[in-house]
Amino acid sequence: MSCIFCQIAAGEIDSDIVYQDHQVVAFRDLNPQAPVHILIIPREHISNLDQASAENADLLGHCALVAAEIARAEGLAESGYRLVTNVGPDAGQSVDHMHFHLLGGRRMQWPPG
Ligand code: AMP
Repeated sequence: MSCIFCQIAAGEIDSDIVYQDHQVVAFRDLNPQAPVHILIIPREHISNLDQASAENADLLGHCALVAAEIARAEGLAESGYRLVTNVGPDAGQSVDHMHFHLLGGRRMQWPPG
């Protein structure tokens, strides 16, 4: 298994996990870009949103709802937060396993760079 996020989901690589269930795992980013920076990943290996299909609709919705639940737990609901997924080179995707960045705890710029 060469995918680093598959290895994290399988517990083969240490990570700071904040939430997990049978469908998803959420852990703190190793190189945080905000005071709160958590990655939400499906356990199933899907390269990115472009590779997802209608079969994954429930899973995608679950990722978003888990992100909102974590944001509340992290105290971000009032101040706000950003949920983003990078797809491909132009977006700077560096890990080929779909993930959602939950960022919060500071004021962010729009549009993103
Ligand atoms: P992206 O650039 O959208 O593909 O995001 C990949 C993210 O994964 C980056 O923010 C990295 O800092 C993060 N990352 C890579 N390896 C690890 C790891 N082992 N544990 C936690 N976060 C990681």
